[in-house]
Amino acid sequence: MRVLVIGSGGREHALCRGLRLDPSVSEVHCAPGNAGIARVATLHQVTPTDGAAVSALAVTLGADLVVIGPEAPLVAGVADAVRAAGIPCFGPSSEPAGIEGSKSFAKDVMTAAGVPTARAYTCATADEAAAALDEFGPPYVVKDDGLAAGKGVVVTGDRDEALAHAQACERVVIEEFLDGPEVSLFALCDGETAVALQPAQDFKRVGDGDAGPNTGGMGAYTPLPWAPEGLTEQVMSEIVHPTVAELAARGMPYTGVLYAGLALTAKGPRVIEFNARFGDPETQVVLDRLETPLAGLLLACATGTLAAHEPLRWREGAAVTVVVAAENYPGEPVKGDVVEGLDVDVPGAYVLHAGTAFDADGRIVSNGGRVLSVVGTGRDLAEARSRAYEAVGHIRLRGSHHRSDIALRAVES
Ligand code: AMP
Repeated sequence: MRVLVIGSGGREHALCRGLRLDPSVSEVHCAPGNAGIARVATLHQVTPTDGAAVSALAVTLGADLVVIGPEAPLVAGVADAVRAAGIPCFGPSSEPAGIEGSKSFAKDVMTAAGVPTARAYTCATADEAAAALDEFGPPYVVKDDGLAAGKGVVVTGDRDEALAHAQACERVVIEEFLDGPEVSLFALCDGETAVALQPAQDFKRVGDGDAGPNTGGMGAYTPLPWAPEGLTEQVMSEIVHPTVAELAARGMPYTGVLYAGLALTAKGPRVIEFNARFGDPETQVVLDRLETPLAGLLLACATGTLAAHEPLRWREGAAVTVVVAAENYPGEPVKGDVVEGLDVDVPGAYVLHAGTAFDADGRIVSNGGRVLSVVGTGRDLAEARSRAYEAVGHIRLRGSHHRSDIALRAVES
């Protein structure tokens, strides 16, 4: 099989790595990729959101499958363009991708499907926003109603800050605060059938102890030893299956990953948000433990044959990933610094690249906010965690920072 992956982050490096390990895969291509992906895939300079260019590349390569990593190309209709060229594509069409691209569309689908989520109002004026904030009370949750790379959400006890964020957005969704630990559950979908991957937890805030602003994600781990028994089954039956059925009934069958971002509240799991793609960095740990060959599985989704696919197999043990971020991230990151110590020699650990590139001298330099996603694996979370941090200790990037408490509470509990 020849597979083309679209994207350039740690998630795409994990996808390319997983595809490489599938014996049915002969070639992995990636556009645009990064300096680490260049080791496992052939890179192509194509703009990910350019549907015509992506489908033309897929045709030229004779790709058997295109896997779209990030949300922007999905919302822009790149999956539609690839399918129109007759090539199986893993990733939803632009309409169902609205489950991520528009918070209000997601709320509408959830209401119709009876999916448990936070009560919410979509507001277009400051007066409407103020009224909604006062109805729910603090902590306030204010979400930009468009794509914001996971950063359009403000959760704050400060009413003025909440109102200011609402006014900075064209349309906002204001909703009740959901209290409880967060879980990411990815479901692979082929339009009709949905299969759950192992749940993971990510760390959105930039600093230890969940201090500071939200980021794209600073680390993740799986499994979740503290998660209630039967959680995955409950989420599939109460949330994923009804959502997939509702989208199919609306004539927009969902193909790809439906990512349910959940809060485990006292009343049960509630959807915080849906995403239309694999989460980054949770994918790095979830795919590490997946033993089922990845290409065949994603192809089954893309061709509507998931129901006939063998049950998923998982490696025992645990995986932890720690994101190494550039100076000033999640603000405008400092780019262009040389990254050293990448060939870490820690058993069970490896480095996935996110924002990296080659400079004119062929050196690997930082090229984004999240620069690396260092993965540690082991028999249990404690071992995986210590290997991940040992490997992080070998990385040298001026001004970089990472959280030191990824998976810490899960290990201690
Ligand atoms: P989102 O982009 O919707 O995932 O929001 C980013 C982060 O904001 C989530 O991971 C949560 O930590 C937090 N968040 C969003 N919505 C809520 C909510 N209704 N209640 C509590 N926390 C929330």
